[in-house]
Amino acid sequence: MQKYEVIIIGAGPAGLSTAIHLKNNGIKDLCVIERSCFPRVKPCAGLLPKKAYEELQELGIDAFDDLKYISINNYQVYYKYKLKLKMNNIFGFTTNLSGTRLDLDMALYNKAKELKISIIENSKIENVDLNSNLIKTLSEEYQYNYLVFADGMSGYSARFKNKATKKNICFEAYVKEKSESPLVELHFGITNNGYAWIGKTGTNVNIGFSDIYDKNINYKELLKNFAKIKGYKINDKDIKGAFTPYEVNNSIILNNNVYFVGDAAGITDPLSIEGIYYALATGKYCAMSIKNKDNNLYLKKVKPFIKRFNNAKKVMNKFYKQSFQWLIWNIVSKIFPRFIAYGFEYLMLENKYDYNEIFKCFKSYIKSNKKD
Ligand SMILES: Cc1cc2nc3c(=O)[nH]c(=O)nc-3n(C[C@H](O)[C@H](O)[C@H](O)COP(=O)(O)OP(=O)(O)OC[C@H]3O[C@@H](n4cnc5c(N)ncnc54)[C@H](O)[C@@H]3O)c2cc1C
Repeated sequence: MQKYEVIIIGAGPAGLSTAIHLKNNGIKDLCVIERSCFPRVKPCAGLLPKKAYEELQELGIDAFDDLKYISINNYQVYYKYKLKLKMNNIFGFTTNLSGTRLDLDMALYNKAKELKISIIENSKIENVDLNSNLIKTLSEEYQYNYLVFADGMSGYSARFKNKATKKNICFEAYVKEKSESPLVELHFGITNNGYAWIGKTGTNVNIGFSDIYDKNINYKELLKNFAKIKGYKINDKDIKGAFTPYEVNNSIILNNNVYFVGDAAGITDPLSIEGIYYALATGKYCAMSIKNKDNNLYLKKVKPFIKRFNNAKKVMNKFYKQSFQWLIWNIVSKIFPRFIAYGFEYLMLENKYDYNEIFKCFKSYIKSNKKD
């Protein structure tokens, strides 16, 4: 049997962020167990907010220099296929970056290898005994002092979640097409409780959508139809789908020594589906908690995220109502296009959802003298 101070299940952004931060903080006796082999493909549009860029820098990765990510300042918003708004990040609140998820995962993997972190690949967790601190893969048994579940939405840790909770679902496909200048199209009115996107950010176009999962919807057909109307042909074999969290886990720490991070904790923005920043940040906070032997630190650090996501769900309930969508995109955005663009950049791109922030946004818009 192998023994480690910390065992991390899953080598996605959450697991590798935890491992790198632990190692950088002097905890060397750790390993990461991963069911796939690298390079491995995870469905993801690869859009990063500025705050994820900063998290990556803390891990020693520069998204521009090391990953060749590019800035996205050009957004177009459509409602039922009609262009409603153009936004060029003119207010300068944030800059999103885009690149491939594969490059991001490989950079984290290479950084972990550089730090001599043991990543046991092709090794799926089959059983966890929380009382004896034991885990089993098909070929090996391991003992831990701390266990970190970073195994995403559909890993072993899914059994600790409340089965009845809602889930988000995302589907996507890539089409080869060179884009001269980076542009992201956001489409509303395609899915009932989400949005669709077309990311033209280099040599590939990423086409996808999010929705609150509804088993009665044929999502593959929906994506093919959306792509076709937008002039792209995609085949079944190119379509990839995955669940993303809608709810935070009821417990993000078990038995005082078992942590959940990233998607496994349910810590992903349910409205924007943005999860990479939260995976990197929760990994960092988990490492800080283990290093300081202080569970409360983790709970304290993730509390603002949980509050933000609860607000996001409230906003989602109203925002995706057909009547609201019709009003905002057919009337309000026509009369106050700059205010809607301001609000989008201030609130959505920065994941600020509470009513206080909406009020602050309005006040700062008036102060900024931006005229419609
Ligand atoms: C279509 C789509 C588009 C998205 N676009 C964006 C985007 O543009 N920007 C953004 O910020 N977020 C996006 N997201 C969300 C983002 O992909 C996730 O939030 C992020 O990957 C979470 O990272 P993680 O490390 O928690 O989990 P994951 O990246 O899912 O990693 C989990 C790891 O655990 C491993 N694993 C699972 N089970 C086991 C087991 N039993 N034993 C061992 N290993 C196991 C898996 O193989 C995997 O490597 C998107 C999601 C989807 C589905």
